[in-house]
Amino acid sequence: MTQHDAPLPGRDGRSGAARTDHVVVAMDGPSGTGKSTVSRHLALRLGVRYLDTGAMYRAATLAVLREGVDLADITHLIDTAVRANIEISTNPHRSAVSLHGVRVDDEIRSAPVTSAVSAVAAVPEIRARLVAAQRDLIGTGGIVVEGRDIGAVVWPAALPKIYLTASAAVRARRRAGELGSGSDLDAVAVDLARRDRLDSTRADSPLAKADDAIEIDTSRLDVDEVVNRLVGIVWASAGHG
Ligand code: C5P
Repeated sequence: MTQHDAPLPGRDGRSGAARTDHVVVAMDGPSGTGKSTVSRHLALRLGVRYLDTGAMYRAATLAVLREGVDLADITHLIDTAVRANIEISTNPHRSAVSLHGVRVDDEIRSAPVTSAVSAVAAVPEIRARLVAAQRDLIGTGGIVVEGRDIGAVVWPAALPKIYLTASAAVRARRRAGELGSGSDLDAVAVDLARRDRLDSTRADSPLAKADDAIEIDTSRLDVDEVVNRLVGIVWASAGHG
């Protein structure tokens, strides 16, 4: 753990980690707003765990694609996704996702998975299975949880609830940057808009800002600025502001 990532000491000198043992921070918002980077850094700063729920939907999608399931064949789709044995690390220092006991960290970020994931994530039976697994992982708290429906559905008692946004242009630039030099900015922007539309219009748990979520526009902020602001918000919510 670097100095920068060390848990903040509380006012009384106790470690920040002890004060955040049971905190559940919900981090929702569309793709490309910086959720993953910010959530992981925030978890490191607070000395708590980190859960990337999108990686779980991606692993379920990979299971479906590997079996060659037709996405329109809902019965087969549900059966395959629900049977998928998905394991995910909540250690913010080391992300690790396994499907049926084999690491799939890179494969779940592939283009075929990215293009199919919103369709798989729209199926209520699949969501119910993954939401139950997410609640088990959250357990007694001490975690930053990133996704689309964390504050509204997975953990409505989360405090604080954060909703990250950024302009469409900034989001496309960030996502293209993650994908590497060969990526086409226009194509990335179209794909982000397509996923947002699917994620925000599905019937079950659509992407939406919870009523009591604090919205932060990250368009003009760098990672450290967002994380610093969030640490202040977490501290204030815990009554130590
Ligand atoms: O966060 P990420 O972009 O990896 O998520 C991939 C997809 O998983 C999203 O586009 C969305 O369809 C789905 N998802 C979801 N609910 C979550 C997290 C992700 O529906 N809590």
